[in-house]
Amino acid sequence: MYKVLVINPYITDFKLYDEWMHPSGLYFLIDCLKRNGIQTYYFNCLKQVSKPKKHGTGSFMSLEIKKPSLYKNIKRKYKLYGRPQSELINFLSDIDDPDLVCIGTMMTYWAPGVIQTIKIIKEQLPNVPVIIGGIAARLFSHYFKNRLPGCITSDSILTTNRINLPQPVHSALKALSKPTSLLGGLECLDHATHGPVLLSFGCPMKCSYCASRVLQKDFYHRSIKTTIREILYLNERFGVSDFAFYDDALLVKPDQVLIPFLKKINEYRIPFRFHTPNGLHLQFITEEISDLMKENGFKTIRLGFESGSKKYADDTNYKSGFDMLEKKFSILQKSGFDKNDIGVYIMGGLKDQKPLEMLKEMKYAGSLGIKIKPVFLSPVPHTELFKYYSHFFPQIKSDPLWHNDTFFITSLAQWDFDSVEMIRKKSREINQVNSCRPAGNL
Ligand code: SF4
Repeated sequence: MYKVLVINPYITDFKLYDEWMHPSGLYFLIDCLKRNGIQTYYFNCLKQVSKPKKHGTGSFMSLEIKKPSLYKNIKRKYKLYGRPQSELINFLSDIDDPDLVCIGTMMTYWAPGVIQTIKIIKEQLPNVPVIIGGIAARLFSHYFKNRLPGCITSDSILTTNRINLPQPVHSALKALSKPTSLLGGLECLDHATHGPVLLSFGCPMKCSYCASRVLQKDFYHRSIKTTIREILYLNERFGVSDFAFYDDALLVKPDQVLIPFLKKINEYRIPFRFHTPNGLHLQFITEEISDLMKENGFKTIRLGFESGSKKYADDTNYKSGFDMLEKKFSILQKSGFDKNDIGVYIMGGLKDQKPLEMLKEMKYAGSLGIKIKPVFLSPVPHTELFKYYSHFFPQIKSDPLWHNDTFFITSLAQWDFDSVEMIRKKSREINQVNSCRPAGNL
């Protein structure tokens, strides 16, 4: 029987927290492989340390490693996140040699973690072909092709003759363009403190910094029945009650999927907690939706906002202004959401943006009582902002380390490590003051 090993690789960064992280693309891949009769193994290099914290989140095991010279001015530790590498080596020597290894990728600047994972695989399984797939491999395939000439990126599988894949693997990889279920992947887990929920693929909008449209051209819904089966599976097997929505556009066309989903999941009378780490679209929050979310266990709310400045309306796809933020925040509070569970993403690194402009936006949002979640731009290949910044920083076209949010912001005019630290410190102060303040007038 043909055997495939699927690996979620190590990650290298200055920070990483398991806030409901799951390699959903790999779960879909495993499901497609299994449906095509292929024996599949899974190894997850990431592992939470000890006991989970709030709502199943937690820290990852990590190892401090040498900082790339590019990052010499970033006064933070650079780490390889994941379980001890000896565990991967032992796993590889214990299993029957697979015929193929598939490795996933996410952020482009996590590439050194992927490379380290592949180095171990190649040492242990020198003759087994390795395919690199996932987000970073799709957005920056030329880098992985050049850097790892012994591997194949998923975009070139059908055009290369370097690897002889049997028909069932071809069928599985083809099915991955419109996958159906996460279940095959979830069955491979030996432990879970939280789970993913996905009701739809894609986003109908097109923000200048986001690759959602590039990765997923069409916006479409999944089967509610399948999603519920996935949730119940994790709840029954591991007692998971914290689930994070992975949708890019959860509130778009709610009559077709979110509302029927909530009505259905409610029938099970299980006290789930739902979280929305991918920011919700403010404009689609209505009293009805907000009440329904609250009644059905939504807990952590993150709002996609980025900037309320008219100057960046094109970049944020005219998502919202401060008036709308205030109005929707009030709707959420009226539904009963705790203001400390509502956070708004405010972005730094937009065109010509200065630290003080970002700070002003943070202060304004903070004055409404909302928790501030500052985020810094990562130039994501194939996006509008990537094209814009590549004129000033051609390095971003060839070196994924340049895409690191903590680093890239410090290379912009008027920004440096200290201004980034100032923004982080101020956001903590604003949030601290707000957490002590009583809820606003409703
Ligand atoms: S609304 Fe969100 S998911 Fe959609 S394009 Fe903009 S940033 Fe991406």
